[in-house]
Order: sequence, then structure tokens, then C-alpha cells
Amino acid sequence: MSSIGTRCVQAGYVPGDGDPRQLPIYQSTTFKYDTSEHMGRLFDLEESGYFYTRLQNPTNDAVAAKIADLEGGTAGMLTSSGQAANFFAVFNIAECGDHVVASSAIYGGTFNLLAHTMHKMGIDCTFVSPTCTREELDAAFRPNTKCVVGETIANPALAVLDIEMFADAAHAHGVPLIVDNTFATPIMCRPIEWGADIVTHSTTKYMDGHAATVGGAIVDSGNFDWMAHADKFPGLTTPDESYHGIVYAEKFGQGGAYITKATSQLMRDFGSIQSPQNAFYLNLGLESLHVRMPKHCENGMAAAEFLSKHPKIAAVRYPGLPSDRYYELAQKYMPHGTCGVVSFDVAGGRKAAEKFMAGLKICNIETHVADSHTCCLHPASSTHRQMTDDELTAAGISPAMVRLSCGLEDKEDILADLDQALAAI
Ligand SMILES: *Cc1c(COP(=O)(O)O)cnc(C)c1O
Repeated sequence: MSSIGTRCVQAGYVPGDGDPRQLPIYQSTTFKYDTSEHMGRLFDLEESGYFYTRLQNPTNDAVAAKIADLEGGTAGMLTSSGQAANFFAVFNIAECGDHVVASSAIYGGTFNLLAHTMHKMGIDCTFVSPTCTREELDAAFRPNTKCVVGETIANPALAVLDIEMFADAAHAHGVPLIVDNTFATPIMCRPIEWGADIVTHSTTKYMDGHAATVGGAIVDSGNFDWMAHADKFPGLTTPDESYHGIVYAEKFGQGGAYITKATSQLMRDFGSIQSPQNAFYLNLGLESLHVRMPKHCENGMAAAEFLSKHPKIAAVRYPGLPSDRYYELAQKYMPHGTCGVVSFDVAGGRKAAEKFMAGLKICNIETHVADSHTCCLHPASSTHRQMTDDELTAAGISPAMVRLSCGLEDKEDILADLDQALAAI
């Protein structure tokens, strides 16, 4: 279609003559058919259509199609949360006995998923530093490696992934790169344009943007040739006995196989669907994503500059700051801005960070980021408290680190609040 802002507003759902202009909510678990033969063709994946909302729903599909369009992919699906999206994205191509390579600078929930929960399922993970060399990255692969996982901008470490390098390494070893693009959103970065094969989202963050709905999304670029690596990905390239012997990569092609398999196997067996009502709210958020993201970035940049000059701040991480170690990568992958999230260490360690948090008035203490309200979190005492100090360090988090998510308020008020809270330490 047209440029990205127009697609934020209009992609996914195109009303016909006399249809509702806004995306209708299909608040129905099931769909009615005239004959059981017709329904049977749907169950056999012979025909596309709806029969049960756990598998597909027209409202969800329209929103998934919009997100796939924004990311430049061929197919997409919604999930009940970002955690479900990342789990499905990996589990769709890795099984017991397999191995995954992941950047160590990833969201705490994704770290737990890969390091602990998937380990119990027999899938091992090797973590590499986001600043590793190509040689170090190559050394992490094993014959049974099935994918590489990273985040465009890591939550909360704010490390920027060298998408091209990670994609090249993944492809050299015959596996896809999965990039969680939650923080950048397709407005600031489209990982598929840099070689990523699968993109995931916690739509709970900027995409919804209003702290209203938890959700996730997976987008397939359609660029990974499963058949060329058929022995690595038997789930896509050999018959699925649980689905009448369908070979996904043959029947649905390179652009459709991955998402169709994730829907017909994982959504069928694990559930984790998005509710049509929540998908509707998500779509409202997407309609203004291109308007909101520049404001989040502007406020984030203002806060980062303010904090980096403040004597009570020991360190600031924001990939938009020229002094940041990820500045050059950010300039390459996100030349128009990164996100509204800024991490910083309060001088004086854990105690000083806790005091600073207690003094905030406009910035709310929340386990959240990336919505319209400015919020603040001290990961070491909340989201990341289950991690050891070594694991915290590997993920780029110190005990004095605070994560600030700049919302859509006027930046003067955000800076004034930070200023008075710092003064009170
Ligand atoms: C929040 C988040 C997740 C998890 O998403 P939920 O919607 O909370 O399940 C995954 N990845 C990143 C980068 C996140 O910020």
C-alpha cells in the first residue's frame, strides 16, 4: 500500500461498500455452517475460513495482518501475551533435544523462558553477549541449533542488537533469526529489512500504547527457506500426523508455512489466544503508533540528556545519546529515534535508587514500560529479583539501575519530577 503511517491507520481491515468503517469485534467463539462437509474442509486446511476462535477469529486476523504489513512480513498471528509470542516463535521450530542461541541482553521473562522453562522441555540455550564478535557468535552454534534470538532494543538493558551480524551468522548456520521488536516498533526499525526472519512483539507495550491490553504478535518474513534446510526443520518439511499428513512448507509455501503451523499446532494445543475485544483495543493503539512513537522518542531523549548531566546520576544508558556504547548501532538501525525508555544508575547504589523511586510524583512506579503514562521501575528489587548478580550483570543490569519509560506527557513536567526526586535523595 502506501507509507507506514497510512498503513498504521488503514492496513489489515478494508471495509467493503456499506461496511462498518471501524474494525468490527467478532465477539463469537464459533461460526455457523450449512453442512458438516464444508466445516470438514476447514478442519483439513483445504479451505480458509473460521470455525473456532481459539484457532482464528476475523478481528484478530485483521490486526495480525496489520502488524505483518507494518513489519514487512508475509503472515502474522496474535497471541495472548508477548511471552506466548516468544514461546511459540521458538517452540514452532525447536523441540526436545534442540538448541537455541540467544543474546544475553533480553527481557527477564524471555530469559527465564529460554534458560529455565524451555530447558526443562529439553531445549538448551547458549547466551552470547550482545557485543560479542562474529567469531564468538559462531562458536555458540551446535549441530542441533534451530534459531537465534535477540531484541532490537533490549528491555531493560537498552542494548541494540547488531541485526545484520546476527542474521548473517544465523543464516551461515542454516537457521532463522528471531527478533523481538517490542521497544523499537516497526515505526523506528523493521528488523526484516536487515535480515531478521521472524519478528515478535509484546503488543502490551507501544503497540497498544495505553496500558490497556496484554498481547503478543508473531510475524514471518517469508524469507527463510525451510525446504533448503529440511533436515533441521522436520516439523515444517515432513508430514504432520496430527493434521492429516500435511507438509506445511509444501502446502503453504515459504511465506505461509511457519505461521500456519504455529496456528494449527501450537494455538490448537496450548491456547494462548488473544481476545477479539483486546485485539480491537490493540488496533486503536496501532492507528496512532506512528504519531506516538516520535513523541516517546523526544521525551526519552530529553530525559537521557537531562540525567546524563545530573551529578546524582552515575550512568545513563540510552541508545540515542552520542556517548552511549550502542549509539552507532542505533544510528544505523534506528536513525529517526529509538524509544522512550531510558536506563540509569543512581549514584549511591541500591539504597539511593530506592529513595529516588520513593520521591517520584508524576512518574509512577509500575512493572510496565512503553505506554502513554511515564513510569519508573527498579528491576533489581522487582522484575529481575529472581536473577543472580552474575545473571544481572550478563543482562546488563546493576543493583542501582532504574528504568524510566517516558510517556506522552509534556517533557518539562517529566524533567521537573526527576529533578525534585533526585534533590530529595
Ligand atoms: C514485556 C515484554 C515481553 C513480554 O510481553 P508480555 O506481553 O508482558 O507477555 C517480551 N519481550 C519484551 C521485549 C518485552 O518488553
